[in-house]
Amino acid sequence: MTGWGLSTIGRAALDLLLPAACAGCGELGSPCCPACAAAFDGARLFARGERVHALARYDGVARRLVLAYKEQGRRDLAAPLGQLLATAVPLLPRAGPDSTGTWWLVPVPSRRIAARARGGSHLERLARHCAAQLAADGHAVAVAPALELGAGARDAVGLARAERVANLAGRLRLRPAGAPPPGTPVVLLDDVVTTGATVDACLRTLTAGGLEVTAALALTAV
Ligand SMILES: [Zn+2]
Repeated sequence: MTGWGLSTIGRAALDLLLPAACAGCGELGSPCCPACAAAFDGARLFARGERVHALARYDGVARRLVLAYKEQGRRDLAAPLGQLLATAVPLLPRAGPDSTGTWWLVPVPSRRIAARARGGSHLERLARHCAAQLAADGHAVAVAPALELGAGARDAVGLARAERVANLAGRLRLRPAGAPPPGTPVVLLDDVVTTGATVDACLRTLTAGGLEVTAALALTAV
Protein backbone atom coordinates (compact mmCIF):
# COMPACT_ATOMS: atom_id res chain seq x y z
CA MET A 1 0.00 0.00 0.00
CA THR A 2 1.41 3.37 -0.90
CA GLY A 3 1.49 6.23 1.52
CA TRP A 4 -0.91 9.07 1.13
CA GLY A 5 0.08 12.65 1.71
CA LEU A 6 -1.55 15.98 1.16
CA SER A 7 -0.69 17.28 -2.26
CA THR A 8 0.13 20.93 -2.71
CA ILE A 9 -3.28 21.40 -4.28
CA GLY A 10 -4.93 19.59 -1.38
CA ARG A 11 -3.16 21.88 1.06
CA ALA A 12 -4.21 24.95 -0.87
CA ALA A 13 -7.81 23.75 -0.80
CA LEU A 14 -7.61 23.14 2.94
CA ASP A 15 -6.19 26.63 3.45
CA LEU A 16 -9.30 27.99 1.75
CA LEU A 17 -11.63 25.92 3.91
CA LEU A 18 -9.99 26.50 7.28
CA PRO A 19 -10.24 29.93 8.89
CA ALA A 20 -6.87 31.67 9.05
CA ALA A 21 -5.13 31.84 12.39
CA CYS A 22 -3.37 35.04 13.39
CA ALA A 23 0.37 34.49 12.95
CA GLY A 24 1.01 36.71 15.97
CA CYS A 25 -1.21 35.09 18.61
CA GLY A 26 -3.01 32.12 17.04
CA GLU A 27 -6.50 33.59 17.28
CA LEU A 28 -8.75 32.25 14.53
CA GLY A 29 -10.40 34.56 12.04
CA SER A 30 -7.70 36.49 10.18
CA PRO A 31 -3.98 36.20 9.34
CA CYS A 32 -3.25 39.22 11.55
CA CYS A 33 -5.79 40.11 14.24
CA PRO A 34 -6.42 43.77 15.16
CA ALA A 35 -4.60 43.44 18.49
CA CYS A 36 -1.45 42.12 16.81
CA ALA A 37 -1.70 44.65 13.95
CA ALA A 38 -1.57 47.35 16.64
CA ALA A 39 2.08 46.38 17.22
CA PHE A 40 2.80 48.27 13.98
CA ASP A 41 1.80 51.85 14.68
CA GLY A 42 2.05 53.94 11.52
CA ALA A 43 1.28 57.08 13.46
CA ARG A 44 4.31 56.59 15.72
CA LEU A 45 7.16 55.83 13.34
CA PHE A 46 10.57 55.56 14.83
CA ALA A 47 13.62 56.78 13.01
CA ARG A 48 16.80 54.88 12.24
CA GLY A 49 18.73 57.71 10.69
CA GLU A 50 17.60 60.70 8.68
CA ARG A 51 15.65 58.89 6.00
CA VAL A 52 15.03 55.44 7.49
CA HIS A 53 11.87 54.75 9.50
CA ALA A 54 10.16 51.65 10.89
CA LEU A 55 6.68 50.84 12.14
CA ALA A 56 7.77 48.65 15.04
CA ARG A 57 10.74 47.30 16.93
CA TYR A 58 11.88 43.87 15.78
CA ASP A 59 10.67 41.94 18.83
CA GLY A 60 7.58 40.28 20.28
CA VAL A 61 4.47 40.10 18.12
CA ALA A 62 5.92 42.28 15.34
CA ARG A 63 8.93 39.97 15.00
CA ARG A 64 6.71 36.86 14.99
CA LEU A 65 4.55 38.28 12.20
CA VAL A 66 7.51 39.32 10.04
CA LEU A 67 9.18 35.92 10.48
CA ALA A 68 5.92 34.09 9.71
CA TYR A 69 5.59 36.08 6.51
CA LYS A 70 9.22 35.89 5.47
CA GLU A 71 10.35 32.47 6.63
CA GLN A 72 7.27 30.36 7.39
CA GLY A 73 5.31 30.64 4.18
CA ARG A 74 2.49 32.80 5.54
CA ARG A 75 1.82 34.61 2.27
CA ASP A 76 -1.62 35.55 3.58
CA LEU A 77 0.20 38.17 5.69
CA ALA A 78 1.21 40.15 2.59
CA ALA A 79 -2.11 41.98 2.50
CA PRO A 80 -2.38 43.03 6.17
CA LEU A 81 1.34 43.90 6.46
CA GLY A 82 1.22 45.81 3.16
CA GLN A 83 -1.80 47.72 4.39
CA LEU A 84 0.06 48.65 7.58
CA LEU A 85 2.95 50.03 5.50
CA ALA A 86 0.44 52.01 3.43
CA THR A 87 -0.87 53.87 6.47
CA ALA A 88 2.65 55.14 7.14
CA VAL A 89 3.87 56.06 3.64
CA PRO A 90 2.05 59.44 3.44
CA LEU A 91 3.29 60.29 6.96
CA LEU A 92 7.00 59.83 6.18
CA PRO A 93 8.90 63.05 6.75
CA ARG A 94 10.52 64.35 3.55
CA ALA A 95 8.79 61.75 1.34
CA GLY A 96 6.36 62.68 -1.38
CA PRO A 97 4.97 61.81 -4.79
CA ASP A 98 6.45 62.91 -8.13
CA SER A 99 5.33 66.05 -9.98
CA THR A 100 2.29 64.22 -11.37
CA GLY A 101 1.24 63.14 -7.88
CA THR A 102 2.37 59.51 -8.17
CA TRP A 103 4.09 57.76 -5.27
CA TRP A 104 6.86 55.35 -6.33
CA LEU A 105 7.62 52.35 -4.12
CA VAL A 106 10.85 50.37 -4.55
CA PRO A 107 11.09 47.00 -2.72
CA VAL A 108 14.47 45.87 -1.36
CA PRO A 109 15.40 42.96 -3.68
CA SER A 110 15.55 39.32 -2.59
CA ARG A 111 18.20 36.82 -3.54
CA ARG A 112 16.95 34.76 -6.46
CA ILE A 113 17.22 31.46 -4.57
CA ALA A 114 15.31 32.87 -1.62
CA ALA A 115 12.68 34.35 -3.94
CA ARG A 116 12.22 31.00 -5.66
CA ALA A 117 11.83 29.21 -2.33
CA ARG A 118 9.28 31.80 -1.22
CA GLY A 119 7.29 31.70 -4.46
CA GLY A 120 8.43 35.15 -5.61
CA SER A 121 9.99 38.21 -4.01
CA HIS A 122 8.27 38.61 -0.65
CA LEU A 123 9.05 42.34 -0.53
CA GLU A 124 7.70 42.98 -4.00
CA ARG A 125 4.48 41.22 -2.99
CA LEU A 126 4.36 43.38 0.15
CA ALA A 127 4.94 46.51 -1.94
CA ARG A 128 2.08 45.57 -4.28
CA HIS A 129 -0.34 45.17 -1.37
CA CYS A 130 0.93 48.46 0.08
CA ALA A 131 0.30 50.12 -3.30
CA ALA A 132 -3.19 48.61 -3.56
CA GLN A 133 -4.10 50.10 -0.20
CA LEU A 134 -2.65 53.52 -1.09
CA ALA A 135 -4.66 53.42 -4.33
CA ALA A 136 -7.79 52.51 -2.36
CA ASP A 137 -7.06 55.54 -0.16
CA GLY A 138 -7.07 57.75 -3.27
CA HIS A 139 -3.33 58.03 -4.01
CA ALA A 140 -1.74 57.51 -7.40
CA VAL A 141 0.97 54.92 -6.81
CA ALA A 142 3.36 52.63 -8.69
CA VAL A 143 5.64 49.77 -7.63
CA ALA A 144 9.09 49.96 -9.22
CA PRO A 145 11.21 46.79 -8.85
CA ALA A 146 14.24 48.94 -9.60
CA LEU A 147 16.88 46.90 -7.74
CA GLU A 148 18.19 43.38 -8.18
CA LEU A 149 20.75 41.18 -6.49
CA GLY A 150 23.15 39.37 -8.76
CA ALA A 151 24.11 35.72 -8.30
CA GLY A 152 26.27 34.81 -5.34
CA ALA A 153 24.77 37.02 -2.66
CA ARG A 154 24.32 35.10 0.59
CA ASP A 155 21.34 35.35 2.87
CA ALA A 156 22.12 38.27 5.18
CA VAL A 157 20.82 36.47 8.28
CA GLY A 158 23.63 36.06 10.80
CA LEU A 159 26.11 38.29 8.99
CA ALA A 160 27.79 41.19 10.78
CA ARG A 161 27.64 44.65 9.26
CA ALA A 162 31.05 44.48 7.53
CA GLU A 163 30.14 41.08 6.08
CA ARG A 164 26.79 42.41 4.88
CA VAL A 165 28.49 45.27 3.06
CA ALA A 166 30.93 42.86 1.39
CA ASN A 167 28.05 40.49 0.61
CA LEU A 168 26.21 43.22 -1.26
CA ALA A 169 29.15 44.99 -2.86
CA GLY A 170 29.02 44.60 -6.59
CA ARG A 171 25.94 42.36 -6.48
CA LEU A 172 23.28 44.94 -5.86
CA ARG A 173 22.47 46.83 -9.01
CA LEU A 174 19.91 49.03 -10.63
CA ARG A 175 17.41 47.24 -12.83
CA PRO A 176 16.69 49.88 -15.48
CA ALA A 177 13.63 47.99 -16.79
CA GLY A 178 12.00 48.34 -13.36
CA ALA A 179 13.09 51.89 -12.58
CA PRO A 180 11.12 55.11 -13.03
CA PRO A 181 12.71 58.01 -14.97
CA PRO A 182 15.81 59.69 -13.43
CA GLY A 183 14.96 62.36 -10.91
CA THR A 184 11.84 60.56 -9.70
CA PRO A 185 11.40 60.57 -5.90
CA VAL A 186 11.04 57.01 -4.54
CA VAL A 187 10.35 55.34 -1.19
CA LEU A 188 12.33 52.17 -0.41
CA LEU A 189 10.38 49.38 1.37
CA ASP A 190 11.96 46.72 3.60
CA ASP A 191 10.83 44.17 6.19
CA VAL A 192 13.58 44.28 8.83
CA VAL A 193 16.34 46.85 9.25
CA THR A 194 19.09 45.25 11.32
CA THR A 195 22.52 46.81 10.82
CA GLY A 196 21.20 49.22 8.18
CA ALA A 197 23.86 48.04 5.72
CA THR A 198 21.34 46.65 3.23
CA VAL A 199 19.21 49.80 3.25
CA ASP A 200 22.32 51.99 2.91
CA ALA A 201 23.50 49.97 -0.09
CA CYS A 202 20.06 50.23 -1.71
CA LEU A 203 19.94 54.00 -1.11
CA ARG A 204 23.38 54.43 -2.66
CA THR A 205 22.54 52.30 -5.70
CA LEU A 206 19.25 54.11 -6.35
CA THR A 207 20.92 57.50 -5.90
CA ALA A 208 23.73 56.51 -8.27
CA GLY A 209 21.00 55.52 -10.74
CA GLY A 210 19.67 59.09 -10.68
CA LEU A 211 16.68 58.49 -8.42
CA GLU A 212 15.85 60.64 -5.44
CA VAL A 213 15.31 58.36 -2.45
CA THR A 214 13.26 60.49 -0.09
CA ALA A 215 12.70 57.79 2.54
CA ALA A 216 13.07 54.15 3.46
CA LEU A 217 10.24 52.48 5.37
CA ALA A 218 10.53 49.09 7.09
CA LEU A 219 7.97 47.04 8.97
CA THR A 220 10.47 46.59 11.81
CA ALA A 221 13.93 47.67 12.92
CA VAL A 222 16.26 46.19 15.52
ZN1 LIG B 1 -3.12 38.17 16.86
